[in-house]
Parts: sequence; structure tokens; C-alpha cells
Amino acid sequence: MVRVHCAGCGRDVAIHELETKTVAQRSGFETRYRCPFCHEEVEDVADSFG
Ligand SMILES: [Zn+2]
Repeated sequence: MVRVHCAGCGRDVAIHELETKTVAQRSGFETRYRCPFCHEEVEDVADSFG
């Protein structure tokens, strides 16, 4: 299972537990991820997805 480390609360959060939010960008759509515990935006998720 892929997990990401949240810098906000220090938890390791499973990717499927993250809150997702799709935002429109000039280059297309981008999905942002947030920690469900502290709602800090989590980066580098795309790299973890491979
Ligand atoms: Zn967090």
C-alpha cells in the first residue's frame, strides 16, 4: 500500500485516505491532495503513484 508522509501532523497517510480536490489549471486539470486529519496539503503524491 502506498503511503505518503504528512508534514502537517507527521502521520503516514494511505493514498486512498487522502482528500482529493481537482482544480483547473491553464495546462489542464490538476489533482491536489490533502491530509484527512489536519487538512494540510500533501505534496509529491504524484511521484508516489508512479
Ligand atoms: Zn496531516
